[in-house]
Amino acid sequence: MLTIGCHLSSSKGFLHMGEEAVSIGANTFQFFTRNPRGGKAKPLDLRDIAAYREYAMGHGFPVILAHAPYTLNACAKEGRTREFAWETMADDLQRMEAVPGQMYNFHPGSHVGQGVETAVSLIAECLDQAMKPGQTTTVLLETMAGKGSEVGSRFEELKAILERVREPERMGVCLDTCHIYDAGYDIKDRLEEVLEEFDRILGLSRLRAIHLNDSKNPFASHKDRHEKIGQGSLGLETFIRIINHPALRGLPFFLETPNELPGYAQEISLLRASYRE
Ligand code: FE
Ligand code: FE
Ligand code: ZN
Repeated sequence: MLTIGCHLSSSKGFLHMGEEAVSIGANTFQFFTRNPRGGKAKPLDLRDIAAYREYAMGHGFPVILAHAPYTLNACAKEGRTREFAWETMADDLQRMEAVPGQMYNFHPGSHVGQGVETAVSLIAECLDQAMKPGQTTTVLLETMAGKGSEVGSRFEELKAILERVREPERMGVCLDTCHIYDAGYDIKDRLEEVLEEFDRILGLSRLRAIHLNDSKNPFASHKDRHEKIGQGSLGLETFIRIINHPALRGLPFFLETPNELPGYAQEISLLRASYRE
């Protein structure tokens, strides 16, 4: 069975997200841990979480994916900004334990002129202070488009971070199809080669989730503008190949396409219909 969902608003709590997911044919979902632009997280509603966990069990949700605010920059140059990012990640991971065993994805960050090497050590340091002993969440690095000074648009950069952290076995990678195509990995015409490269550099066992997004821009544009499935430069065939690829089939897939719920429902049913059981 295809594990697929989309990004949902967390403003009405976990149970609401679970019900929304089921209503659009999803069996997982992604959500922001707090306002995507940063700021303080709402206090956890433990009753809502207990109700969600029961609901998710009943509906067989394999795993859900939390997404850190996209303003979080673990390798910021400015001390205050960086401190805020580190505190946010530590707080997010602590809160995640209310729903144990899920995944937490974040954008490695932008080095803003400090260079990739400095950024890599700051990101690893951030992870080491945020990931506390005994926590059950798998932390994922997202592949990026390489906009501005973004870190993580090359597999080698993600590898450098994983080599630097204390507990790489508690981490993984989330591959965003729009981002890596924009970054110059040709998953449209050379999916096999790109996956081989991923395997050689990072190891396919590190790949834990996929963001399914078409791209508004051409190959290697370093832009990061998501498009609806089949309406961008990647095209529907690419997505059908991805969800059915033997190395990827078992992974959870998350849509972050420009859609409201009905649009997501359509994309999910299209992809489910294109999945070879
Ligand atoms: Fe993201
Ligand atoms: Fe993404
Ligand atoms: Zn993006």
